[in-house]
Amino acid sequence: MDEVAGGEGAPEGPVFTLELNQDQKDIREWVHGFAEGVVRPAASEWDEREETPWPVIQEAAKIGLYSFEALGQFFADPTGLTLPIANEELFWGDAGIGMAIMGTSLAVAAIFGQGTGEQIGEWIPQCFGTAEEPKVAAFCASEPDAGSDVSAIRTTAKYDEAADEWVINGQKAWATNGGIADVHVVIASVDRELGSRGHAAFVIPPGTRGCEQGAKVKKHGLRASHTADVHLDDCRVPGACLLGGKEKLDERLARVREGKRAKSQAAMQTFEASRPTVGAQAVGIARAAYEYALEYAKERSQFGRPIVENQAIAFTLADMKLEIDAARLLVWRAAWMGRTGQKFENAEGSMSKLKAGEVAVWSTERAIQILGGNGYTREFPVERMHRDAKIYTIFEGTSEIQRLVISRAISGIHVK
Ligand SMILES: Cc1cc2nc3c(=O)[nH]c(=O)nc-3n(C[C@H](O)[C@H](O)[C@H](O)COP(=O)(O)OP(=O)(O)OC[C@H]3O[C@@H](n4cnc5c(N)ncnc54)[C@H](O)[C@@H]3O)c2cc1C
Repeated sequence: MDEVAGGEGAPEGPVFTLELNQDQKDIREWVHGFAEGVVRPAASEWDEREETPWPVIQEAAKIGLYSFEALGQFFADPTGLTLPIANEELFWGDAGIGMAIMGTSLAVAAIFGQGTGEQIGEWIPQCFGTAEEPKVAAFCASEPDAGSDVSAIRTTAKYDEAADEWVINGQKAWATNGGIADVHVVIASVDRELGSRGHAAFVIPPGTRGCEQGAKVKKHGLRASHTADVHLDDCRVPGACLLGGKEKLDERLARVREGKRAKSQAAMQTFEASRPTVGAQAVGIARAAYEYALEYAKERSQFGRPIVENQAIAFTLADMKLEIDAARLLVWRAAWMGRTGQKFENAEGSMSKLKAGEVAVWSTERAIQILGGNGYTREFPVERMHRDAKIYTIFEGTSEIQRLVISRAISGIHVK
């Protein structure tokens, strides 16, 4: 698949292929096996319990799927496809458990994207813990009054020069793994006048005083994944916990104050780059619901024939398959562009997440319809898939925000 990247010195012959290489196929099979054998059978129980499925995380850690090494291996694929492929398979198994396993990667992505080499080496392994004793990590950006509008973040970080410590105060909302995490990554404002350009990311080490879980959220779906408020009260962290370091932050702030464009575009690019992975999770849910509905439609008979023989059902299944494949292609395109360093001229990352999220909601709703009354009960998995799918039009940027990003990118106009 290497020649896909093309460019100077690329060999003659095919320059475009969607054929997966052996490594990608092996990883897909490996993750699928875990999703089918371990995740699926546990899905209903943990959805009902509405608790973090630690035994499943432990199983994932034991086989190396929940580890820094596995995430690194998925990310290392130069085509960018392995990360979405692994996410699709895991979330095909179950999205709540999938998020309990993958939620850590939000914090890891922030440390990887913004940390120094030393910080990456110190904190990322701690996000996962060990195979014997796995831990989770949390990424805390959202606040009660700062959801889509990230610039409204009120949490502050003040530097205490004498102690070389940052003092963080504020309330974070909706944090996946918030309060149960060992490592929290917190976005705080170091200069509120600068809006989102005055933000910085901090690692809160395990056991730090002043970092406490607030209310745990009871949710519509994704219930095996823990979501909670996080309170930061005079939470002191060493100076070295500022991701990227103080020198870099001071330089960036000075540029912004001089009126120069800081690297806000670069930050946006990073955010865009994480969206295909989230899109892949939604594709996994949609595919699971489609496959279930297809099998059901072949088995369920009414009026003396399997319901799939009715065009109304068969065409719906055809459209589901079509939409899911279209969403996956957008996800793969964006993942490939992100990994090969190509600029998202038309917000391709947002496109992939928007399409996949909406396809997941639509397909799971159609699956309920195809199952009829059974689809509406907790005896069958499609109602859970529908509840899980809905979050994909809300978190990591709502569908409206994705459309805003796309419309601004294609028009060059600051659409409101
Ligand atoms: C299960 C779950 C897990 C989460 N995990 C995390 C996490 O780990 N870390 C984290 O930091 N956050 C997390 N979040 C928060 C999530 O990212 C936010 O909920 C999301 O960004 C939306 O913000 P909001 O809920 O405040 O909605 P709002 O921003 O209040 O939006 C409400 C509605 O208004 C619309 N809207 C807002 N602005 C505009 C506009 N300019 N134009 C058009 N429409 C607009 C929105 O699209 C939406 O429909 C999580 C949320 C949930 C539910």
